[in-house]
Amino acid sequence: MIDVDGHRWPNLCLMKLSAYHKGRGDTVEWHRESRRYDLVYMSRVFTDSYSKDFTGIIHADRIVRGGTGYDLDNRLPEEVEHTCPDYALYPQFADTAYGFLSRGCPRGCGFCIVGKKEGLRSVAVADLSEFWRGHKEIKLLDANLLACPDWERLLAQLADSGATVDFTQGLDVRLMTPKKAAMLNRVRTKMLHFAWDNPEDDLTPYFKQFAQMTAVKDCRKRRVYVLTNYGSSHEQDLYRIYTLRDMGYDPYVMIYEKATAPPITRRLQRWVNNKRLFWAIGDFNDYDPDWRKRNAPAAERSGKENRKRRIYDLNSSNKLQKVLTEISRTKEKITAQQTRLRELEQQKIELENVEIVGMVRGLSVAPEELAAFIKAFRGSKAGAPIFMEREENENDGLEQKTE
Ligand code: SF4
Repeated sequence: MIDVDGHRWPNLCLMKLSAYHKGRGDTVEWHRESRRYDLVYMSRVFTDSYSKDFTGIIHADRIVRGGTGYDLDNRLPEEVEHTCPDYALYPQFADTAYGFLSRGCPRGCGFCIVGKKEGLRSVAVADLSEFWRGHKEIKLLDANLLACPDWERLLAQLADSGATVDFTQGLDVRLMTPKKAAMLNRVRTKMLHFAWDNPEDDLTPYFKQFAQMTAVKDCRKRRVYVLTNYGSSHEQDLYRIYTLRDMGYDPYVMIYEKATAPPITRRLQRWVNNKRLFWAIGDFNDYDPDWRKRNAPAAERSGKENRKRRIYDLNSSNKLQKVLTEISRTKEKITAQQTRLRELEQQKIELENVEIVGMVRGLSVAPEELAAFIKAFRGSKAGAPIFMEREENENDGLEQKTE
């Protein structure tokens, strides 16, 4: 198998082919240039405008190329088309089912290949059980499910699955009715996608009405593709973007033939599709894609330097955190020591009092003599109290005896 466009989104055709061949007992693997194969399938979704064809070496008896990146006429054989995909081929997308319940779209928009590839009628092509095996999430690839006469039965299958559903390809807001919205409200919706491709169509009443009816109130889950570079002016692009945002939807800019798009449209896409910037900067005129270069010289450094700087910033932040923690701990210690100091001072006072009482008792002084002493001590230093004089005299006597 060769997934020409890469592995950022699983290739449904290859998964079905893999399941089909494994079911026949064949060995299936991703192509390796060093190996020789009986059969190699190459699947390509996008044309040269978006991705390049595979240019590696293939040793194979037979090579089959398919997908809209090669032409619009190739089809999987019916028995392969209705095989449950081999999800093991893309283990990185585990627990997600991919598939179509309906195919085709009656709109026939000039820039879109769905009409040519799938037909100008939306018809049911499978039941959910064909590609869903209890996965937590379902990524639905239908182009216009609401245009399908079997929409109610198919939406009921999605609702009954209990899985979260991402309507990846756009629901037609013009075909929304209260009954359809009520059925959609039964589905565990991960993401709704709509489109406002033609600026000449005023879709505001439809979007407003749906906003009233839907249970999905988070605008980040109500995404609307806004087609640009397909005959619309910059003002018309801006109008759709601002209007959608004001109505509680999340616009997402798609550029038709990006290589020919004017710089302002590319800038618009960078602003709108970078959701952090889009919700932070309210006005496109305030969006400066080069602000990093202008305002932060460090941003012009090499990636290595920037990485170092980020590490340095992180270290610096860690150091600050350490200092703050140390300050907090030191404050706690100081408070504890102050409390201990007060306790010790109290103990000191109590012990001194005990000692004074002991001293007084040891002197065998009459209470009236003690009172006289205190009075004399407080009032005047002149005239030592009698008991003190007596004590001094006794000491003198002792000294004299010693001599
Ligand atoms: S409505 Fe959508 S799917 Fe249908 S033709 Fe237009 S762009 Fe394609």
